[in-house]
Amino acid sequence: MIIVLKADATEDQIQHIVEKTTKLGLKVNISRGVERTVIGLIGSEDILRVTPLEAFPGVEKVIPVLAPYRLVSREFKKENTIVKLNDDVHVGGKRIIVMAGPCSVESHEKLREIASHVKKAGATVLRGGAFKPRTSPYDFQGLGEEGLKILSEVGKEFGLLTVTEIMDAKDIDVICRYVDILQLGARNMQNHSLLKEVGKLKKPVLLKRGMSATIKEWLMSAEYLLANGNYDVILCERGIRTFETATRNTLDINAVAVVKKLSHLPIMIDPSHGTGVRDYVASAAKAGIAAGCDGLIIEVHQNPEEAFSDGEQSLLPNQFEQLMKDLGKLAHAVGRTM
Ligand code: PEP
Ligand code: MN
Repeated sequence: MIIVLKADATEDQIQHIVEKTTKLGLKVNISRGVERTVIGLIGSEDILRVTPLEAFPGVEKVIPVLAPYRLVSREFKKENTIVKLNDDVHVGGKRIIVMAGPCSVESHEKLREIASHVKKAGATVLRGGAFKPRTSPYDFQGLGEEGLKILSEVGKEFGLLTVTEIMDAKDIDVICRYVDILQLGARNMQNHSLLKEVGKLKKPVLLKRGMSATIKEWLMSAEYLLANGNYDVILCERGIRTFETATRNTLDINAVAVVKKLSHLPIMIDPSHGTGVRDYVASAAKAGIAAGCDGLIIEVHQNPEEAFSDGEQSLLPNQFEQLMKDLGKLAHAVGRTM
C-alpha cells in the first residue's frame, strides 16, 4: 500500500509511521519529493483492518494496491468460474443461458402458459417472484409459499430449472425446498446478514447489482457469499439509477467488460429491469450478448396489461420467441451458443 503524507507532515510524524509499520512486519520505503513525501509499504494489507493508518498524524491518504475483494477476484482465480445449475445447464461457459418468465408468479394456469412458450423458445430456467420487493406496501406482494409451489410444479412439468427472489433469511428453508436458484435482488444486494446466510447454502445464487451500487460494492457483496462458502455465484447487471428518465434504469453495459476483467464469476444481464420498457428490451439483450455476458434474465407475460407487476417491461410470448431467434444468430457471431 502507499501512504501519501500531508504537505506539512513533520519528520517526527514520518518516523512515528515508520516505527509503527516496521513493528507490524512491513517493509518501508520512503520517497521524498519536492512537495510531498510518500511511503511505500510492502506486506499484507490486512493490517489496515486493525491499524487505520489514515488516522495517523501527517497522513493525507492511504492507497491500497490490492482490490478489497479476494475470492471473487481474477487474481485469486485466473480461469472463468462455471456455475453448474445441473448436469446440463452451466453458466459461464460457451453457452449463453436464458432465464425467462413473469415478474411475479400469479397463478398456476398463467405460469403454465408462459412456461410452455419460453421453453419452446429455448429458455432453460423459469423465473417468477413469490416474495416481491415492491416500493409500495399496497402493491401485490407475491403469493408466498403458494407461488413457490406453482413455480416448482410448472418448472418440473416443462423441464425448466427455477429461480426466485429471496428477501428474508427466514424464508431460506421454504424457498430451498421448491426452487433451484436463489435470486438476491437489487434492494438486498447489501443486506449483509442475508448474504451471510445465503453464503452458507449449497444453492446457486443470482446476485443482482444494487441500483446505486458501484461495481466494487457489488463485488464486495459477492465476496460475502464466497467467504461464507458459496462459490456458485452469478452476477447480474440490472441497470443503475442515473439522471435519465426515459428509461426505468440505465443498463450499465460497461459492467460486463469490467466484471470480466476484475472477477472470474459469470455475469448475466437483465434487460427488462435495465430498461423498464418493453420496446427497449430486445436492444439491451442484444447489447448484453455482444458485450460478452453469460446469460440473460427476461420478463415475459401473456397479458402484460393485467400483469400483477412489471407488465410495462414484459415481452409478449411471440416477441420473446423472435428475440431468442435473433439472439441465437448474435451468439453465433460472437463465438457462443444458445
Ligand atoms: C425482479 O427480478 O423482478 C426484481 C425485482 O429485480 P431487481 O431486484 O433487479 O429490481
Ligand atoms: Mn420484475
